[in-house]
Amino acid sequence: TESTLADIVSHAKEYGFVFPSSEIYDGLAAVYDYGPNGVELKNNLKQLWWKAMTQLNQNVVGIDAAIFMHPLTWKASGHVDGFSDPMIDNLDSKKRYRADVLLEEKAAEYEKNGEIARAETLLAEMGRLLTAEDLAGVKQLIIDEKILCPVSKTGNWTDVRQFNLMFSTQVGAVAEGSSLIYLRPETAQGIFVNFLNVQKSARQQVPFGIAQIGKAFRNEIVARQFIFRMREFEQMEMQFFVRPGTEGEWYQHWKETRRRWHEALGLPAAKLRFHDHDKLAHYAKAAVDIEYEFPFGFKEIEGIHSRSDFDLTQHQALSRKKQNYFDNDINPETGKPYGNYVPFVVETSVGADRLFLATLCQAFQEETITEGEGEEQKTKTRKLLRLHPAVAPVKAAIFPLVKKDGLPEKANEIYQALRYDFRVIVEEKDAIGKRYTRQDLIGTPFCIAVDHQTLEDNTVTVRHRDSREQTRMPISELHGYIGHAVSF
Ligand code: ATP
Repeated sequence: TESTLADIVSHAKEYGFVFPSSEIYDGLAAVYDYGPNGVELKNNLKQLWWKAMTQLNQNVVGIDAAIFMHPLTWKASGHVDGFSDPMIDNLDSKKRYRADVLLEEKAAEYEKNGEIARAETLLAEMGRLLTAEDLAGVKQLIIDEKILCPVSKTGNWTDVRQFNLMFSTQVGAVAEGSSLIYLRPETAQGIFVNFLNVQKSARQQVPFGIAQIGKAFRNEIVARQFIFRMREFEQMEMQFFVRPGTEGEWYQHWKETRRRWHEALGLPAAKLRFHDHDKLAHYAKAAVDIEYEFPFGFKEIEGIHSRSDFDLTQHQALSRKKQNYFDNDINPETGKPYGNYVPFVVETSVGADRLFLATLCQAFQEETITEGEGEEQKTKTRKLLRLHPAVAPVKAAIFPLVKKDGLPEKANEIYQALRYDFRVIVEEKDAIGKRYTRQDLIGTPFCIAVDHQTLEDNTVTVRHRDSREQTRMPISELHGYIGHAVSF
């Protein structure tokens, strides 16, 4: 059965995946905390991404740059002047909206009613007005489309203003003279300003990439859809530096590679699609989103952008430090080395939290099962998380059947043998059925039952989360068995 976002939000809270921030004070909009199972799942996703980038590609290396950066960074990147969303307030409800989102929702409504041409015209007109920075025009479009405030059903709108999404703060004590700095709105710039440091120290040659995982901050106007759009979130970004003229091939390469990665992790092909941008950001030559079908529709989880030499030349201009690379490879057309140039960049950028949400939405399932035989047979529903074993917070739960006869000691022996390589737990409390149910709910792929036979022949029963099938196997085979399942 299809689950709604509300089901997922409550499951995430109840089973220790995601909590609202500072909940005892009624929370903080668009900020969330990860609980004990959530942090394991998120760490697993981050580690798999890191491995896919840096371990599987000799020419991709990592960095961990600071959140605070020199303020000129954001001038150079275009964020000070251009990183804003068109905001509009409703005077009756005093609620704030993104003007473009109101129009997009209207277009979606047309599309749903089969008025495809009308939807497309509206989106095109909105795109034209926003590109021309005609904010009065955007407001007029909202009025012409008779868009009412979703809360108070009035069309009593303020003017549309551009709202910068960067958070700022002061650095330095006031006496020394403080200066305004920003909390980074993306991790990419920490990579660009380190381009030459990394290229030289890691002895890399173009084409090569720099990967980074870290927090980013955006003062999003509309905070909705749980961890889909947060004000503090984590990005996993890789900037790939290439020779100008080869960016098209690399764009294709990363587009396909990244999509395959999502599929390998368990997002089915039917729920993924590419969405080409027709409205390009100031830095982009080409851009595509990898979208996943959330319970609230197809939405971006990752962006692949061909950024040309925009960022490096901007930093070169503001820092007055050359960002050139000398390419020794021979250009077949001239017979001479390609020589000096500012590399072009192809970027892959995925939100760790959005990927987490997609993973959870995909894994969360409710199914009808039959249990027992003959007269005893009954059907019931069970909820479970069908997580890929590689990302599951707990890889195996070990259950001594009873709390006596040496079974807990035997379970502990197995635990000791596995715990260095896998996150495993021992559970002694409650009937075994209840223990299985609890592990299904957090997505544990294997439950290992220790019974009296175990004491005689050193075999255990391994119960599989998805099929509920049970296999008897020697304890000595457990390590290899789990290892195989969780490898990715
Ligand atoms: P959107 O259009 O949804 O605001 P964006 O196009 O601004 O996203 P990018 O700047 O391309 O996003 O950021 C790259 C990735 O970072 C996105 O694909 C998304 O996974 C993640 N991301 C961006 N903003 C947020 C946010 N507010 N909360 C969580 N993740 C985010």
